[in-house]
Amino acid sequence: MSTVSVNCPCCSNLAYINCCGPFHTNKANPASPEAMMRSRYAAYVLHLIDYLVATTHAETRNLYRKNDIENWSKQNLWLKLEIISATKDKVEFKAYYQHDSKNFIHHENSTFKMENKRWYYLNGEYFN
Ligand SMILES: [Zn+2]
Repeated sequence: MSTVSVNCPCCSNLAYINCCGPFHTNKANPASPEAMMRSRYAAYVLHLIDYLVATTHAETRNLYRKNDIENWSKQNLWLKLEIISATKDKVEFKAYYQHDSKNFIHHENSTFKMENKRWYYLNGEYFN
């Protein structure tokens, strides 16, 4: 992930260094829930577990175990992110992934909360 031409894993069609890269390296903060959502999906793809923990809101961080996040990140092959809708604090998305050679879609409506001018993932409602 070191060259300008590498596409961002969040499926924005932008170069990683012009998209989620600066967020992952703490050079910038996502300015909207959608940008935060995209950067978190990209973090799953890239196994940036600390970023996923750090961008979960303090209110709910203890509900998500780091080991579980790491396993979910590493045991799946992440194929594609599709943003269905985004509002001022919610993002509905579908994350396409492969597990044990089978295809799955993780469909979630996530809630984000701002704290000290930064967006955080609060929780999610899952669809089956
Ligand atoms: Zn991105």
